[in-house]
Amino acid sequence: MNLDLSRRDFVGLSGIASLGIVSTLSNSASANSTQSFSQTPEGVLKDLLDGNARFVSGEASSPRRTPKDFSALEDSQNPEALIITCADSRVPPEILFDQGVGDLFVVRIAGNIVNGSGVVVKGSIEYAITELNVPLIMVLGHSNCGAVNAAVKHIDKNDVPPGALNELIGLIKPAVERSKKLPGDLLENAIRENVVMGVERLRKLDAIVSRPANASPIKIVGATYDLRTGRVMIMP
Ligand SMILES: [Zn+2]
Repeated sequence: MNLDLSRRDFVGLSGIASLGIVSTLSNSASANSTQSFSQTPEGVLKDLLDGNARFVSGEASSPRRTPKDFSALEDSQNPEALIITCADSRVPPEILFDQGVGDLFVVRIAGNIVNGSGVVVKGSIEYAITELNVPLIMVLGHSNCGAVNAAVKHIDKNDVPPGALNELIGLIKPAVERSKKLPGDLLENAIRENVVMGVERLRKLDAIVSRPANASPIKIVGATYDLRTGRVMIMP
């Protein structure tokens, strides 16, 4: 078997094998969740950035979005990346990375908060790591983020937003505090620091720390999405 098979090729072959058409592949197909044929984290990152380049240039291929693509994934999924990003309507990961159904496991929460987030977010992230074995995790912030802007606006004021919103932006305030020490625009820096703190938090998750030494490699990156240009920039 060609070991250069991409994850998607492999998923496709798994589907064929499950129909009994390629019976010799059935054992390999059962290894689907072990990522025997996965791309490297670097390969996945390149795939996402290539997709973003197509999106930015107006040449998106909009792959794998037909009913057939959906039904092929009825029994299993094998996403190539976990994207943790903002709930903002202007930041749809499958579109801006030019990916299709089944390609991305996406956790969306206002302000793309990882640091201090509760068990629902943490559990969703750990599921992608331990059960889906994603090789790449990206925390994706974006320009003009309303949640981060709210944290910037309210950090020195006594007035508080209504309901749970105050608690939510409270989780972003440490990033704003760190940004105050940096030169440049406070909001832009806070958006970046919020991503940095998310990446730092991920590296301390039990699911990451306790990974066996022989587990498939996993890469965690921070990135920001520019609403004006459509471009995703990986943070150093
Ligand atoms: Zn946002």
